[in-house]
Amino acid sequence: MEDILSDKSPEGAWERAKAVLIATLKTPEEQSRADRYFSMITKVEKDGVSFFLKVSNSTAAEFLNANYAEKVKLCLGLMGEGEDVKVSFTVDDSPPPPPPVEEEPAPRYNTQESEVRVNHEAGARPGFISTMPLKEEYTFEEFVSGPSNSWAYSAAQGVVQNPGEKSYNPLFIHGGTGLGKTHLMQAIGNELKKKNKNLAVCYITAETLLNEYINCLKNGTINSFRDKYRNVDCLLIDDVQFLQRKNQFQEEFFNTFNYLQGKNHQIVMTSDMAPKDLKVLDERLISRFIGGLVQEIDSPSYETRLAILKKKTEGKLPVIPLSTLNFIAENIKSHVRAMEGALAKVKMVMLANPGEEIPQIMLERLLKDFIESDENIRRITVADIQSACAKHFNVSVEDILSNIRPQTIVNARLIAMYIAKKYTTLSSSDVGRAFNKSHATVLSGVKSIQGRIATENELRESLDVILQELGLRE
Ligand code: ADP
Ligand code: MG
Repeated sequence: MEDILSDKSPEGAWERAKAVLIATLKTPEEQSRADRYFSMITKVEKDGVSFFLKVSNSTAAEFLNANYAEKVKLCLGLMGEGEDVKVSFTVDDSPPPPPPVEEEPAPRYNTQESEVRVNHEAGARPGFISTMPLKEEYTFEEFVSGPSNSWAYSAAQGVVQNPGEKSYNPLFIHGGTGLGKTHLMQAIGNELKKKNKNLAVCYITAETLLNEYINCLKNGTINSFRDKYRNVDCLLIDDVQFLQRKNQFQEEFFNTFNYLQGKNHQIVMTSDMAPKDLKVLDERLISRFIGGLVQEIDSPSYETRLAILKKKTEGKLPVIPLSTLNFIAENIKSHVRAMEGALAKVKMVMLANPGEEIPQIMLERLLKDFIESDENIRRITVADIQSACAKHFNVSVEDILSNIRPQTIVNARLIAMYIAKKYTTLSSSDVGRAFNKSHATVLSGVKSIQGRIATENELRESLDVILQELGLRE
């Protein structure tokens, strides 16, 4: 792969701006969201000072324009594209490339155990056009396996060896943000495509899938939606936690899921939570999710972190001294994406001062943001907060998410909202969504509980205990 730092094309400029933008976002949640949306970009075009970043659907384009266009403009400016650079996210309306001509019908899966998984409509869909392309660098070779991810890694390889095999179908990988779930999932897709280029491998985020579904409902093309997803050989759905609370879509998803599983077509999913914690998901779906193999990815150990850094830098310029890699591995502990952000910053400084090692004191200053956010903002999710509050007040998470109003439940609900608003960087609308409430309800709820905490000792004590429980207080 070309090093993005020396690539002068519009794509290169965009890759650099993207790395800096993601690196400047403070929390893993924000980074993960930006990464998810940016991965929907299929093409980068430049006309004079205008950059056009193309995505496959209008909902994503609108979201990207509203939330990221300004930041991207700033970062492109910083990357030497000039201050008057213009940025817009637009829908890619160029026709998809024609499917390759098929030489001979091939079995879908290259495996000897053909009775289970051979394609019965062999070669029916060469050149399936996925909404979201696979990143070619997300391979098994580029993935460092260590104790934190070895089970998930072996399971992913198992899927490649025996796709559709019942004990691996579906494969559900869960774990915190930036720990390699998307990488591993796409490695499965890339490897399967390598074995059989005609295999219809579809990678998609649950959010994009949902957007596509909504668009198809609007346009009356739901049948083509069904046809498309029921014809894939391997469906890779990233971040399924987004399916929570989308009831009508869950029904559609359930049917597609059953259809594919019934035909022994492989399904792989990732989520930031274990299936059992996807509280607001239809129970039928949860039981399907855990019917195959569930594997967790944890934060990597020091040795794995160092091995990942070595892998990401080996054979690339600028050469980064081992002491610098050590510093990053020692100080950035929670997730790999933050290490990559740190690495991007270090590379830029080293390119500006070729051949000079960055002194420790400079490194500390340079990587302060990553180190601080890594240590101070624990990876706390709204689900953690909701469970801790439910446990403390002896109510259920369902009670918290409902609208019922006995005082204990109201207290649990409001304290949970207050913690979510204060100790994560989620917006009021995000918190609202996580609680089945409007953003106005969150704002007024948080305001009312703040007043009560100041005057009601018992409530204040409850809050302290829960914060301690969540590791948010010394
Ligand atoms: P997630 O989907 O869990 O949020 P990603 O798969 O997007 O995380 O990983 C974030 C970045 O970290 C990617 O660039 C990925 O290549 C890298 N990464 C994570 N884990 C590993 C690993 N074990 N080996 C190599 N790279 C990794
Ligand atoms: Mg991911």
